[in-house]
Amino acid sequence: MPRITLVRGDITQQSVDAVVNAANSSLLGGGGVDGAIHRRGGPEILEECRALRASRYGRGLPTGQAVATTAGRLPARWVIHTVGPVHSAGEDRSELLASCHREALRVADEVGARTVAFPAISTGVYRWPVEDAARIAVGTVQDTQTGVEEVRFVLFDEAAYAAFAAQLPEQGQGE
Ligand code: ADP
Repeated sequence: MPRITLVRGDITQQSVDAVVNAANSSLLGGGGVDGAIHRRGGPEILEECRALRASRYGRGLPTGQAVATTAGRLPARWVIHTVGPVHSAGEDRSELLASCHREALRVADEVGARTVAFPAISTGVYRWPVEDAARIAVGTVQDTQTGVEEVRFVLFDEAAYAAFAAQLPEQGQGE
């Protein structure tokens, strides 16, 4: 099981082997984390995303799957793009959110990443309640067999940080 750490901050500023992008299925960028990663990382990431669309993901990257590209100018080696589910009141999509975390770690293993930063996937535009997203994210990472040594959740605001910290009471997480 990887060591889980929490920081409040901006995922584009993390010096890690891989940062996970809360992408949308087009792989062509968007708002939130996705916009920040492409803005800071520069055009090289988008070029690789376009190539992936042309070769493997003409219909888009399916929800719950993950794929790696270069990290361009970010202080990381790879960006692992994954598409979170939009939250639904009527349908339980938890397994798809868990899959994002499992698949991102599987891709991290494939590229040999040992330190991986995750945002709070699906908790922005996709409206997943952050307490529930934190439970799924932390629980899935704890249950996944991986060579990744550190999973760092990078939380943008205090509410998200508190939600993730509540899942790790034994660690007494501070900043
Ligand atoms: P999704 O479409 O999966 O909901 P978003 O990018 O809209 O993804 O939001 C996911 C979470 O990431 C939200 O909690 C948002 O506040 C947070 N966030 C936005 N920008 C950044 C950033 N630069 N670094 C880390 N977290 C961010």
